[in-house]
Amino acid sequence: MDVSNWQYNGKQVLTYTNNSPDILDRVFYHLYFNAFQPGSEMDVRSRTVADPDQRVGDRISKLTPSEMGYIKLLSLTQDGVILNYEVVGTVLEVTLARPIEPGESTVFNMEWDAQVPVQVRRSGRNNAEGIALSMTQWYPKLAEYDFQGWHADPYIYREFYGVWGDFDVKISIDKKYTIGGTGYLQDEPKKKRGKKIWHFVAPNVHDFTWAADPEYIHDTYPGPNGVTLNFYYKNDPDIIDNWKKLQPVTADLMQFYNENIGAYPYKQYSVIHGGDGGMEYAMCTLITGGRKLESLVGVTAHELAHTWFQFLLATHEGKHPWMDEGFAEYIGELAMDEVTKKKRANPFSGQYRGYRFLATSGHEAPQGTHADRFATNRTSGLTAYHKGCVFIAQLGYVIGEGDLKKTIRQYFKEWSFKHPTPNDFIRVAEKVSDLELDWYLMDWTQTTNTIDYKIIDVAQTNGATTVSLERIGLMPMPIDLLVTYDDGSEELFYIPLQMMRGEKENSDPNIKRTILKDWAWAYPSYSFEISENKKVKKLMIDPSQLMADIDLKNNIWHLE
Ligand SMILES: [Zn+2]
Repeated sequence: MDVSNWQYNGKQVLTYTNNSPDILDRVFYHLYFNAFQPGSEMDVRSRTVADPDQRVGDRISKLTPSEMGYIKLLSLTQDGVILNYEVVGTVLEVTLARPIEPGESTVFNMEWDAQVPVQVRRSGRNNAEGIALSMTQWYPKLAEYDFQGWHADPYIYREFYGVWGDFDVKISIDKKYTIGGTGYLQDEPKKKRGKKIWHFVAPNVHDFTWAADPEYIHDTYPGPNGVTLNFYYKNDPDIIDNWKKLQPVTADLMQFYNENIGAYPYKQYSVIHGGDGGMEYAMCTLITGGRKLESLVGVTAHELAHTWFQFLLATHEGKHPWMDEGFAEYIGELAMDEVTKKKRANPFSGQYRGYRFLATSGHEAPQGTHADRFATNRTSGLTAYHKGCVFIAQLGYVIGEGDLKKTIRQYFKEWSFKHPTPNDFIRVAEKVSDLELDWYLMDWTQTTNTIDYKIIDVAQTNGATTVSLERIGLMPMPIDLLVTYDDGSEELFYIPLQMMRGEKENSDPNIKRTILKDWAWAYPSYSFEISENKKVKKLMIDPSQLMADIDLKNNIWHLE
């Protein structure tokens, strides 16, 4: 890396094994830095979307030749044979000299010249807070081939998906710079002609990220299970105190995720001052650092949660952005309650508000839409974060909180390091709960169907009460109904959804629960009798507030 002009050259030796049952006659690499050039898809999309991200706007279109990013290939060989390739925007298309048979390995040798763009989003030099280098998605990165074929997505909405591998990386940079990032530093960086060579090894990751600055303070803090937590931040008196206070909280957050998802499998994790907000990478995150303590902890809680819900599970961020953003929001909200000792009545209420706004906006697109192709950034964000969080929080209502907790741990245990899809997740939930849930996944993620159940009537005559309900929304749901009698006692009624072929457990043993007959989806209305010889004072659909009914006004009934 030449820090006088922010250009660098690289050499990459990649031993690639075809673990698929298919013969591969071509491969693709991502050249992410090419997105930061006037006229790129990222640039044009930002200038044509109705609500551009303020950090991007038209900035890419104005980058000069010395400010833009690029990766220019100098050579590429396969087992020593020179290959033909074509650079198509942010994707390198490579025709192989010799097809790779299933189970076979091949070695690609590549050299390239590159330039670090002025920071626009995620990566780049000289970010808004003065960090010299945020080096994310900075090297030619092999695209993933899986049971769905190649994933050579162009770089537009900045999502990624990668191939698991062992990385051995040497970075030569001006000796004044400190580097933090993915992997384990092998020994003290060696000095060579005004530069230092930093050597990192990172086993079993699908990305390699680093950041560097001549003014970094580097602290370490002991994390759970012997993990070393590293903190790299600018030597700026305004932020030092918050970055010190963040350290024990990060250890608590990791402990919470270890217990509730599964054990963090690497030896180090680094919170690095850099980037343009917060983004998750292998064994590290880059976050902006000039924040109030609560915001610094909040962003760290979310980005650290992504270690599990994206990095270790390695879901495809472009195809299923809700599986990383929604799940990280969900577990992050719970973690924040734990570490800040603020037990909120419903930690997800803001997430539900966002979802209801989206569902009633008239602009909702199915949650299964590719991240690049939402009509607006706002819809994309609400869908991935809020609707994604509601997907999992609401699953707790559908299958019961105990089974949701088991599902999350089992999902991680079965699918970490394996690129699960939405179906893989719901199958785990089905096996844990012994309930049919394909309808839940399909209606919630592939349609914009909404939930709306209504209490139509409560008729009380001679000690008998008849309750009538209506399904207004297209999306089915099992129904919890809380009845308060005039003597103040309560009873929970549960109406199983027939297509679930079973019932969730009663999550609150302190309250009597009566299981009613199934409600089959096609019937718009349902009624039942309360035989208890007491007057009903109040009736409420879903006292947990975890069912995302879009109209709560008709969910409650009071005796007049
Ligand atoms: Zn996120």
